[in-house]
Amino acid sequence: MPAIPFPKKKVPRATALAQLEILERTYPAATTALEHRNPYELLIAVILSAQCTDARVNLTTPTLFAKYPTAQKLAKALPRDVERIIKSCGFFRAKTKNIIGAARDIVERFDGAVPKDRESLESLSGVGRKTASVVLANAFDEPALAVDTHVFRVAHRLGLTTGKTPLDVERDLVAVVPRAKWGLATHWLILHGRAVCKAPRPLCGICPVLALCPTGKMLVKKPAQSLRRRRRME
Ligand code: SF4
Repeated sequence: MPAIPFPKKKVPRATALAQLEILERTYPAATTALEHRNPYELLIAVILSAQCTDARVNLTTPTLFAKYPTAQKLAKALPRDVERIIKSCGFFRAKTKNIIGAARDIVERFDGAVPKDRESLESLSGVGRKTASVVLANAFDEPALAVDTHVFRVAHRLGLTTGKTPLDVERDLVAVVPRAKWGLATHWLILHGRAVCKAPRPLCGICPVLALCPTGKMLVKKPAQSLRRRRRME
């Protein structure tokens, strides 16, 4: 199936704000699906969630956190023991290295507590901008917008961005989403991408944002156009 082209220009600001309002109403209880009880657990769960579903991570972390309830314990773990527990999350060798490394960094440089600022978070093993944003928004209630594959795709389809990289997309989104809602907007876009605006084929027919979405209008118009063309030929 050919990829759906993204709109070439952004929608007007008023349209973007109206789209976001609809998403907010549609997903009022938006939050991370990764189960966690504290910043340490969220950080480790987010690292494990790369190229893996949140549901799979949630099946894995109870065993992991029962054995390693703190960064101090995980910092001293044997890689082969951790690999055995997280194997089903994929890329388990790299992820084991990253989570033990992050735990050691936290113990050695941050007194055992997950740091609350972006620069320190991004200095931890296996932690990039997206992971840091998820932790800042969900563990510390800091304004941060994370761009994952769903956010990237849905933001483009809605015409909220024309950015080529996740950082470009983030810049476009934070320019239109009110600062207090950056974390929530991440969840609205992720939930919408999972439930409705799916890759590769979005369910535009049931989408509450259809009337304001340039991609949806293009996709829904096409069958009507081809029907008219067929009728003209008959
Ligand atoms: S109308 Fe279609 S393309 Fe636009 S957001 Fe909804 S599902 Fe996605």
